[in-house]
Amino acid sequence: MAVVAEECCDGVAALLARRWSGGGVDRDWWKWEGAKDGVFTVNKAKTLIYDRPSAGTAMKMEWVGWTPLKCKILVWRAGLNRLPTKVELVKRGISLDNLSCPLCDADQETAMHLFTGCLYTSEIWSRVGAWCRLSPIYAFEVADLIMLADNQMKNKKEIQIIQGIIFTTIWSIWNERNARIFNNKSRRAIELAENVKVSTFFWIRHRSRLKGVLALRTACGALG
Ligand SMILES: [Zn+2]
Repeated sequence: MAVVAEECCDGVAALLARRWSGGGVDRDWWKWEGAKDGVFTVNKAKTLIYDRPSAGTAMKMEWVGWTPLKCKILVWRAGLNRLPTKVELVKRGISLDNLSCPLCDADQETAMHLFTGCLYTSEIWSRVGAWCRLSPIYAFEVADLIMLADNQMKNKKEIQIIQGIIFTTIWSIWNERNARIFNNKSRRAIELAENVKVSTFFWIRHRSRLKGVLALRTACGALG
């Protein structure tokens, strides 16, 4: 199910803004006004979300697939620029002496830089792209990465696999960033790219209905 992320935010806000109908003498209660019969169902909630006009970006977030939910949520937050990068922390009043990217130390740490502009990250995308036989990855913002599989792949299974690998890569980059800041540990880009492969094999094998490694080989081409 593809969900327009911004619409999802709007939809959730709309759900929260539903008129409070309680306040009786004996007890308070919530009344669902998303449907005429007053009965809440997930389907009706989805309809409410989809029917709301998009307030901004057209980024489409894929919530199905084989990556763990925590991984998808991280990608979604990155796409909306809601990750606590150094620049975002300073914007929120937190005092930091050093705003530089912990991966390359060549620019300020923003989500856009971490995932698309960083030299360290560029090598990872290059290696992951070669592994999956993708066209060269040109991403200027996180949304470009989120939409990459849709733009480069044709059939549904390929899109699902490549989408998951992109998400896994974003997840791994963020973990590497955290390891450097909080644990003073670092890996080379080639090591991180190998870690992406290992996580991909593990998650597909244990979390998806795809037929294990063979399906992955078929969909991605030759894997190193
Ligand atoms: Zn960097």
